[in-house]
Amino acid sequence: MPWDIIHKMRDPAACAPWLEDYDKTRAGFSWAQARALLTGLPQGRGLNIAHEAVDRHALGARGRHVALRCLARDRAAGELTYAALSAQTNRFANVLRHLGVAAGERVFMLSDRIAELYIAAFGTLKNRSVFCPMFAAFGPEPIRARLALGEAAVLVTTAALYRRKVAGIHAQLPGLRHVLLVTDDPADAELLKSPGVSDFRQLLAEASAQFEIPPTAPEDPALLHFTSGTTGTPKGVVHVHEAVAVHCATARFVLDLHDEDIFWCTADPGWVTGTSYGIVAPLALGVTLVVDREEFDPERWYGILQDERVSVWYTAPTAIRMLMKYGAQPVRSHELSSLRHICSVGEPLNPDAVVWGRDTFGIAFHDNWWQTETGGIMIANYPAMDIRPGSMGKPLPGIDAAIVRREKDGRITVLDAGVEGELALRQGWPSMFRGYLHDAARYRQCFADGWYLTGDLARRDGDGYYWFVGRADDVIKSAGHLIGPFEVESALLEHPAVAGAGVIGKPDPVVGETVKAFVELKHGIDGDEALRKQILGFARKRLGAAIAPKEITFARNLPRTRSGKIMRRLLKARELGLPEGDISTLEPAA
Ligand code: AMP
Repeated sequence: MPWDIIHKMRDPAACAPWLEDYDKTRAGFSWAQARALLTGLPQGRGLNIAHEAVDRHALGARGRHVALRCLARDRAAGELTYAALSAQTNRFANVLRHLGVAAGERVFMLSDRIAELYIAAFGTLKNRSVFCPMFAAFGPEPIRARLALGEAAVLVTTAALYRRKVAGIHAQLPGLRHVLLVTDDPADAELLKSPGVSDFRQLLAEASAQFEIPPTAPEDPALLHFTSGTTGTPKGVVHVHEAVAVHCATARFVLDLHDEDIFWCTADPGWVTGTSYGIVAPLALGVTLVVDREEFDPERWYGILQDERVSVWYTAPTAIRMLMKYGAQPVRSHELSSLRHICSVGEPLNPDAVVWGRDTFGIAFHDNWWQTETGGIMIANYPAMDIRPGSMGKPLPGIDAAIVRREKDGRITVLDAGVEGELALRQGWPSMFRGYLHDAARYRQCFADGWYLTGDLARRDGDGYYWFVGRADDVIKSAGHLIGPFEVESALLEHPAVAGAGVIGKPDPVVGETVKAFVELKHGIDGDEALRKQILGFARKRLGAAIAPKEITFARNLPRTRSGKIMRRLLKARELGLPEGDISTLEPAA
């Protein structure tokens, strides 16, 4: 192994970790135990995430404990205690009830990380509606596609985002009954008079702060997240209230959250990490959650770690690699003694980043693995376990993982240690997704022989550590965000000069992969620099900065299969100068 093992580092003054002995905890663990740690709704009325994460603390000894510290642009903090969060979320649940929004209907959120996002999330769950956060950096097209696919009944957004991204597509969304705008600008008064548009804060202020969560079944849908596949539209991943059992278990075992922790998850709730761990899990354990609305900035981030006295920090490899570029000096010039545990997720964490953490912060980054479909962390490096830099760690207690091969007859063969294959999880953990919205066939394809197949390639070493190898499909991971090439290609095809498009992920040392498009132009159109820039701008406007290609190359003939599908694998191999592999299905160039 090229990197030395980092032996478990225990600060004798720190609290004992929840998971002291991996093998022992694993052997004695059952999901029934994890479920038993949840409170459940009063009088046995079921299980609701909002009760577990907000009301049970508000009604108990932690009512006056700070739940959220929301940092404004100038880093001034707006605080909400658990009691205040409970009252505000009751108000929003009443707003939804008065608007006639039913259980199971979808409430979408499009905003940066402002307090209203968290109020809307738990208010929606209290009303037993389904919460679906979207990333504010999406452009109008991904927003339209998700609102339409998810049959949004309500959209909560800011007036500024509405004007820039939603106003132009609103007419295409007849099912969207209510748009609730967050604004305090009197200039928005006219906008608030538009049909179906209301003032979020005014409705909240007028609503009662009393609300009793109706009976909720653990299997009732709670959260909807969109993720990307290789083909077709984004997939709506459905999670149920019972997922909170995994959120709590992982917040203990992996994030090691204890009562007095101050926790900062840097992910945006528009991506699943920012919901499971940036909203639900820390509050379910009753800790204080720091929320920053701004994007990455090294000075700001170190300032937050120091001034907010963050004790547990959950971030992503792209951010860590960007911080590494600034070196150790900014770390040394901040007082970061509160920091006890640091974790990373979302893309491969290179071993030198793990070691850099240890050498610079005095504590190593603990990588962990999961995906939108799993709802919570599945494989992790635990605080009291030795780290093998570059490995994602070991399966969570309660999770059976394996490296497998799908046979032609659909059966699954479990592979030996050291052999590369597809990462699979034995189905049945509480936060496992319960469906792709309106796509039962696609859901079924994810399972075989009792295993959930993740679409990731990995291997397991002889000691049970898992090592990420790559994706089994063409999906792109850029700055931790999963991007479907089809969604990008479809947007490019809407440009009047474009006849065909193939999109790949191009390796990048900081963000993992960048989106690169190969574009075939319509007959008679010349691909010059001006057109290239125009198409880049067009894609950026439609898709938003997070998804749009960074690079476009014009190609005369894109490689296609005989059935007409663009061979992205071949585009990628050619781009990277790699062997072209099997090209027997390639359509001969015209
Ligand atoms: P998402 O559903 O957007 O959270 O993306 C999930 C995918 O991100 C996984 O299937 C992996 O391909 C990748 N991923 C997540 N965590 C890790 C990790 N620790 N190491 C390598 N890849 C990861």
